[in-house]
Amino acid sequence: MKISDKLNQAHSSTRPPPATFSFEFFVPKTSQGVQNLYDRMDRMYDLNPIFIDITWNAGGRSSSLTNEMVYTAQSTLGLETCMHLTCTNMKVELIDEALKKAYKSGCQNILALRGDPPLDGSESTGDFKYAIDLIKYIRKNYGNHFNIGVAAYPEGHPEEEDATKTLQYLKEKCDSGADFIITQMFYDVDNFISWCEKLRKIGIDIPIIPGIMPISTYAAFIRRANWSEIKIPQHFLDALEPIKEDDFLVRDKGTDLVSEMCLKLINSGYVNHLHFYTMNLEKATVMCLEKLNLVEAIKSHEIVGTTELPWRKSLHPERSKESIRPIFWQNRKYSYISRTATWDEFPNGRWGDSRSPAFGDIDLCASELLRQSPKRAFELWGTPQTLKELSEIIISYLRGNLKSLPWSDGAVGDDTRVIVDNLIELNRHGFFTMNSQPALNAIKSSDKTFGWGPKNGYVYQKQYLEFFCHKDYICNLLNKIDAFNSKQGDSTSAIISYYVVDKDGNLSSNCQDEDINAVTWGVFPGEEILQPTIVEKTSFLAWKDEVYRLFSEWSKVINSHLVEADEEKVKGFTSLMSTFSNDYILCNLVNNDFIDNNYTLFNIIRDLNVKELV
Ligand code: FAD
Repeated sequence: MKISDKLNQAHSSTRPPPATFSFEFFVPKTSQGVQNLYDRMDRMYDLNPIFIDITWNAGGRSSSLTNEMVYTAQSTLGLETCMHLTCTNMKVELIDEALKKAYKSGCQNILALRGDPPLDGSESTGDFKYAIDLIKYIRKNYGNHFNIGVAAYPEGHPEEEDATKTLQYLKEKCDSGADFIITQMFYDVDNFISWCEKLRKIGIDIPIIPGIMPISTYAAFIRRANWSEIKIPQHFLDALEPIKEDDFLVRDKGTDLVSEMCLKLINSGYVNHLHFYTMNLEKATVMCLEKLNLVEAIKSHEIVGTTELPWRKSLHPERSKESIRPIFWQNRKYSYISRTATWDEFPNGRWGDSRSPAFGDIDLCASELLRQSPKRAFELWGTPQTLKELSEIIISYLRGNLKSLPWSDGAVGDDTRVIVDNLIELNRHGFFTMNSQPALNAIKSSDKTFGWGPKNGYVYQKQYLEFFCHKDYICNLLNKIDAFNSKQGDSTSAIISYYVVDKDGNLSSNCQDEDINAVTWGVFPGEEILQPTIVEKTSFLAWKDEVYRLFSEWSKVINSHLVEADEEKVKGFTSLMSTFSNDYILCNLVNNDFIDNNYTLFNIIRDLNVKELV
């Protein structure tokens, strides 16, 4: 969606939100930096930014990475994205390539920039001279597909001394088709307000979005201000200079100063949206937002309710109708998006007919699959030597002490809290949990932890439990489930349904091949019942391949990091992974009685009387 439309929608509703905000991220230098940044962007999604933007390196260095990040932000993270595009030293073919890739990713917002000239003082050899040339080119060749933003400088641009000329050039950029303005960072609010007055007077009437640079350390604050050639108001210096050696105090005081500045901007009437230069960091920006109480205010606001679906909806145009996903990839959105990227159609409303016949191969290398570099994988999870050590890693994750696992992209969700003690107990007894969800019965769609979908609806879930069980206990487990089901009477539809499969694909199940079990659904006023999460056989088998592969890839990744890891430990770990893959069976259980409590599945496993791991 276009930024202008999003801003309009947000601010023209019957009860306009306090002030909306967005975040700028720059392209990191290393691939691990990119993965880490995705995790950060993923977390910052929960703050409800209206959009995020990704910078472009002038001259097109690492341009493909900008495009790739725009694709991931849109498709996998579901973040409305604005792509920066500079035109200095850029041939028109490169500009076209970048715009086409953005277009294909569903990105509808471009910040059209000139970029800084080459550092060696040489003349640009590109096909464009100023940002205005790029704006005209985009409008001519792409019509109104893109919303175009332009850069502006409330305190002037270093290359132009005449402020009237700078204003005139900005007006020309706006008249050529710009839809919004994002400013250079600044701290002098009075100057900004009088600059806005001038813009409005000369007929610039598009949204003016102030660029806000939070203060994290004194040195960075001074360096950035000097580099951008902006004025630092005396009261900033008076407050920060005496505490400049203490980063914590600087960040606290900086938060006060920047928040006061934001309040003044909002109260000026020229601003209803703040754009934060995050510098790829989270803390300082979040502190400002919290100080301004914007996160809570936006969350409780009627137009930004809960998420549309229980999983993150992709903004890729081809996936726009996707409304169903298998539960197995609940914690692995990157691999799910990647392996279904080539589907012609995405399931919508019903899983069966519109589903592509096959899940694509996982076209991801080991560290992409694990989403960690070898070094980081080693730091995070070490080299477990025994089943007990493996279970301790999972327990640490469930307790919130580890932010990811080889098979879980992010931290454990709040919704797991209801069953976390039982999950920990299972792991202690050698049932290695992979994924789960508690049962829910008619929880309000606005509920902060479990809610999703339109207002005034109710959401439901069946309890789901996925884990690895030693092959010696499988028979007993299935007998217990069968006995439980027979006790409940109806032999045609089992209360507890299951699929268990080993590495080679030997499958047992009490479901029919064509069964599709909706394990999450929602009932909303004036709408058909939505059933966005399912369990079924074909996708489970594809998931089985992925999850067993994860163990061998984990082992490979650690083997490639022998520098720090001790050779004996690496051997022990490799052997653990190999026996684990051979001896452990992937199981999933669904308790179809969603008004039952959350203990039935755990009790059945507890009844196997398996000893605690030692
Ligand atoms: P322009 O609007 O083309 O202006 C450049 C200079 O030329 C100015 O001095 C202007 O006054 C002058 N000028 C404009 N039109 C004319 C004309 N017709 N005749 C004579 N002079 C003229 N840089 C990056 O490399 N990557 C990024 O991702 C990036 N993101 C940015 C985001 C924001 C919000 C801002 C404010 C800046 C960003 N920059 C980025 C920096 C930016 O590229 C530089 O500041 C650059 O020097 C100017 O870009 P511009 O788009 O404002 O250029």
